[in-house]
Amino acid sequence: MTGREVRRFKRVLDDLRAELIHTLENSVDRLAISQSADPMDQMRDLSEQEMDSRSISLLTARLCRLEDALKAIDAGNFGLCASCDCEIPINRLKAIPWSLLCVRCQESADAAVAERDHVEKGARSGYAVAG
Ligand SMILES: [Zn+2]
Repeated sequence: MTGREVRRFKRVLDDLRAELIHTLENSVDRLAISQSADPMDQMRDLSEQEMDSRSISLLTARLCRLEDALKAIDAGNFGLCASCDCEIPINRLKAIPWSLLCVRCQESADAAVAERDHVEKGARSGYAVAG
């Protein structure tokens, strides 16, 4: 990848990061100010807060990945797979600028997560049957 391409990705990632932080701040503000005396409003606020806190953890996770990608740019290894060191195809980076793994490593990472989820779900339902 040329220096110009890296700089372009850095700009994209910086913009995404600023946008994410802005969205995060808004969600956190909403969580902080929603205090109502009306019980019906409180119920509604509660479910909204639940949604907000869920989206906050999703956004925070994405922010971490963006920052990792920006760190990789600073370290000069942006575009290299963090797992196998091969070059991540530029089209993949254009689609997902914060990807730190090549397609193959990402697939095996996803498979590992799916496997873990499967095991956890199995454990939970097994527990439900036993209880
Ligand atoms: Zn890889």
